[in-house]
Amino acid sequence: MVFLFGLITNRYTIKAILITTLLTSSFSSYFMNCYHVIIDSDMIRNTMQTNIEESCDLYSIKLILYILLLGVLPSILINKIKITNNSFKVEFYQKIKTIFFSLLLILIILFSFSKFYTSFFREHKPLRYYTNPTYWIYSIGDYIAKTLNSGDVVVKPIGLDAKINKTTKEPKLVIMVVGEAVRADHFSLNGYTRETNPLLKQENIINLPYVSSCGTSTAHSVPCMFSIFDRDKYSYKKGISTENVLDVLHHSNQVEILWRDNNSNSKGVALRVPFENYKTEKTNTICDEECRDEGMLVGLDEYIKKRKGKDILIVLHQMGNHGPAYNKRYTKKFENFTPVCQTNQLEECSQESINNAYDNALLHTDYFLSEVIHLLKNYDETHKTSMIYMSDHGESLGEHGLYLHGLPYFMAPDAQTHVGAVVWFGKNNQKNIDPTKEYSHDNLFHTLLGLFNVETKVYKKEMDIFR
Ligand SMILES: [Zn+2]
Repeated sequence: MVFLFGLITNRYTIKAILITTLLTSSFSSYFMNCYHVIIDSDMIRNTMQTNIEESCDLYSIKLILYILLLGVLPSILINKIKITNNSFKVEFYQKIKTIFFSLLLILIILFSFSKFYTSFFREHKPLRYYTNPTYWIYSIGDYIAKTLNSGDVVVKPIGLDAKINKTTKEPKLVIMVVGEAVRADHFSLNGYTRETNPLLKQENIINLPYVSSCGTSTAHSVPCMFSIFDRDKYSYKKGISTENVLDVLHHSNQVEILWRDNNSNSKGVALRVPFENYKTEKTNTICDEECRDEGMLVGLDEYIKKRKGKDILIVLHQMGNHGPAYNKRYTKKFENFTPVCQTNQLEECSQESINNAYDNALLHTDYFLSEVIHLLKNYDETHKTSMIYMSDHGESLGEHGLYLHGLPYFMAPDAQTHVGAVVWFGKNNQKNIDPTKEYSHDNLFHTLLGLFNVETKVYKKEMDIFR
């Protein structure tokens, strides 16, 4: 630290730089200690894209204590230190000395324990993600390099040749539900011992038990799942500068598209199609403590009826199981499992009460999805209807001390990458599908094109779940 800060500070900037570092580090220290998250560039992106309500879920007395004791208090001490004014020559000489001796110390330690360090860091790769403050400083640089520094975004069009091959008289009506933080192993449809899908199981749904996500955060997964890129090819920059499946459908000129969002936003996916924010009482008519997912269904009948004879794709982006305040994600009537964790300090709650709150929120999603199906059933005679539900990523609920989500993919547990997914088809729209196969977010691009019978060079039949 001495070496690093010796390089970048001088007598005029040192206080400002140290105080900024301390304050930011006290923040990141809180989130790293309490939720075991990592402050990487994806996490910085999540922070930048988060709205106030979401971040309020994360605030607590403990956070204030962290900031006061680890940030504000040392900052006051630093501010009190008197900096003596030496001549440039003396300053320069001292600076060189500090840098030289700290570097020397680093080298001595490194070489005398080199054998230990090489194997230690090879065995414990994730350790560097937990160094505070160097890792968040690196991450901000990484984020800027990936995001701000990329110049004007020129969006590359894809699928301009999209054409719909009309094989039937009935138009198609597809509702795509993007879920939030739903891990597969907490669906009773996947064998979870608690009943968390009481309503869905009564419907003629097809459960997909083996679906893996593209990323471990909303900001990564949502643009990735709608993009043409597979998980190993996808990057934020590629995603934002290439059109997605909604654009391809739009190019066909035959699909009416609508994105309704009760999460944060579409993460860039719906930039070129109609978008409606449902997080506010101005649009959402079902709001109490917060606006509810089912509010997104209000008015859809009118929307569909106005577009008689046309193919329609409606995307609904849920608030779902957004953590850590799972207990806020449902109304009283879904509080089936008790006692529930009532705080955002997850590590203070028992494992059981966290699971209870999380599973109650799942019951709410179960209800929401069954309402989507009920809505679609009204169009059984006039449309070819279908619903696709996929969660954006999973969630850690305290296993191995991990909470929430957002770990780098290679070290993320199954709980964060193995997601809930369900499909449903109307009675004159039955499809062949092998639910026992492993699917992933990679399949969504081609599956949506396939559902609308879109012919285009960018469609890969072998990636279509319903081929
Ligand atoms: Zn998410």
